[in-house]
Amino acid sequence: MTSGKRSSGNGRYRDVEGILRIVRDGLCHRCGACIGICPAGTFDVGPSGYPVQVGKCVECDKCVQVCSGFEVDYPALGAAVFGNAYRYGPALGPVKAAYVGHALDEEIRWKRASGGLITQLLVHLLESGRITGALVVVPNPDDPAMAKGTIARSREELLAAAQSKYTTSPSLAALRELRGEKGRIAVVCAALGNSFPGGVLFCLPKAS
Ligand code: SF4
Ligand code: SF4
Repeated sequence: MTSGKRSSGNGRYRDVEGILRIVRDGLCHRCGACIGICPAGTFDVGPSGYPVQVGKCVECDKCVQVCSGFEVDYPALGAAVFGNAYRYGPALGPVKAAYVGHALDEEIRWKRASGGLITQLLVHLLESGRITGALVVVPNPDDPAMAKGTIARSREELLAAAQSKYTTSPSLAALRELRGEKGRIAVVCAALGNSFPGGVLFCLPKAS
């Protein structure tokens, strides 16, 4: 673990070759971030969810910088999300408050996991115009053993993405769909698949 600007492993892990090496070295956990962030469309989701090269690389290094399989600067990540008061703790990171709840919409409450709270929040944010969509995880119809990310932009699409998927999901490859996005997008992801401290991350980044 390091602080400050991320290194690139003394030059060993850089650009497209860096990502391919991370895969070869067994460090890739198939989050899809390198696929989603690449401005050149260098990668696609390959067999079993690993990134595979399908195009040329312009050597911007963004893919390695977002790769949590390679290196995660947790203090810098926490400060970026939670502000300068963030102090990286031994397990969970900061807890500002804890709530118990469930969806009031009966359709959402009984057909979604854990009372449908996240789905209800997303539907509310979408229908009140505070977001234009949400990056969520859905089953992969091309591979029943896998899930995948998608951008849900309607109540129906959000409901279709409800329930947990206990399988590999290169969800962040769906960031490709947000190029040129002007609105706000919610991101729902589980800690295990994205190397983020804390259970479920629910944030509203301003898409670029
Ligand atoms: S273009 Fe940039 S993000 Fe894409 S593979 Fe090359 S270095 Fe990585
Ligand atoms: S960014 Fe994610 S999918 Fe890409 S090499 Fe790193 S861990 Fe694997």
